[in-house]
Amino acid sequence: MKHLFFDHALLKTGWAEHVRVAIDDDGRVHSIEPGTAAQTGDRPHRIGLPGMANLHSHAFQRAMAGLSEFRTAGRDSFWSWRELMYRFVARLGPDDLEAIAALAYCDMLETGFTSVGEFHYLHNQPGGQPYGAPAEMSERIIAAASQTGIALTLMPVLYRWSGFDRQPAQPRQARFTNDLDRYAALYNSARDAVAGLPRAKTGLAPHSLRAVDMADLQALLSLDKGAPVHIHIAEQTAEVEACIAAHGAPPIAYLLDQAEVNEAWCLVHATHMTDAETDALARTRAVAGLCPITEANLGDGIFPAPRFLARDGRFGIGSDSHIRIDLAEELRLLEYGHRLQVRERNVLARPGEDTASALYTRAAKGGAQAIAQGSGQIETGQPADIVTLNPDAPVLRASDPTAIISSWIFSGDGRCIETVYVSGRNIVENGRAIARDEVERRFGATLKRLRNWAG
Ligand SMILES: [Zn+2]
Repeated sequence: MKHLFFDHALLKTGWAEHVRVAIDDDGRVHSIEPGTAAQTGDRPHRIGLPGMANLHSHAFQRAMAGLSEFRTAGRDSFWSWRELMYRFVARLGPDDLEAIAALAYCDMLETGFTSVGEFHYLHNQPGGQPYGAPAEMSERIIAAASQTGIALTLMPVLYRWSGFDRQPAQPRQARFTNDLDRYAALYNSARDAVAGLPRAKTGLAPHSLRAVDMADLQALLSLDKGAPVHIHIAEQTAEVEACIAAHGAPPIAYLLDQAEVNEAWCLVHATHMTDAETDALARTRAVAGLCPITEANLGDGIFPAPRFLARDGRFGIGSDSHIRIDLAEELRLLEYGHRLQVRERNVLARPGEDTASALYTRAAKGGAQAIAQGSGQIETGQPADIVTLNPDAPVLRASDPTAIISSWIFSGDGRCIETVYVSGRNIVENGRAIARDEVERRFGATLKRLRNWAG
């Protein structure tokens, strides 16, 4: 048994003072005692928060962050970014993927993410042939999670078509695509592989309504009943228009009509919804997977959060393309997008709430639900995923815990993080991932190999 002691901790019931948390040898919270004194041997911290799930990651994209920020001849958009991504991906081998993913996971841990949902679609060799082991690339993701200590939900992606109505996949999508038989073999191998890593699990990931049709979706759902299901949806207006042309309904209305969307689901982005779709999605209790920094970077649009939250819609956050990895900034930008739109402040909090605690609490719970990693709360019986804030960070000078979390979310960054525990094991100390030195050495070798890929 190990004990942590917090001057302030964010618990299920809100902020509590002088909290002693006991953690079992298997990494679960054994007991939580507020209003008590520290005992000899307790590790003291000033502020303790539940760890946050990063519910949407394409880890390999971390190595192309910042390389698509120039204007081409026409209008740059998600689609011009995707062209660059295809060129990059053609160069990546298994060793590269593992090295880049490990770096991305260190970066996540150091900003307060304790688990990750890896939406993994880089399956095949450059020509499209499967690797000798069908889950070779999945195993590299698992190895990166194992090396860094982040809790992993690996979601191998089914990608079949390049557009609605079964448009054939393009040759440059060959590394992503599988038919249903090959996907089932891949999924089962990935499921065997995660069994070797504590906390790791798998989920199903139909790439999008463009890349998977309803027959594919039903076949996929039968592979692992009850597992998390994640899908990209309504990120782009072009996709909404194509869905209306093909099916006579926008993507979310179409999906909710055709499939039984429930708590196991995460609809990633869900940016472009009618009011009726927004209300219907909230009623499903599925999680909206919001990636504010990536959505801003790609010029996607703004998720209708005020309406969705007013209907108790559930959401979590993801760093998606990893153009920047920063937990605080994801929540800040989520709020700021709406401030700019409606010209008000504290738009996403309810009356009487402090915005930072409210957004943090909801995103932690929603993210944990989406990737089936704990409850997103410091709670008895749940994995001890806990983030502590650095008492010496200059922006965290306030004494009140709501002011401290507000200072972190609105003024701070990863330098506000002190220690990160995953299943009770400290894997970030003084703001630095314990695995970082080794991870950066390997990443350096990968960068050398990939040099000049964009030229
Ligand atoms: Zn994505």
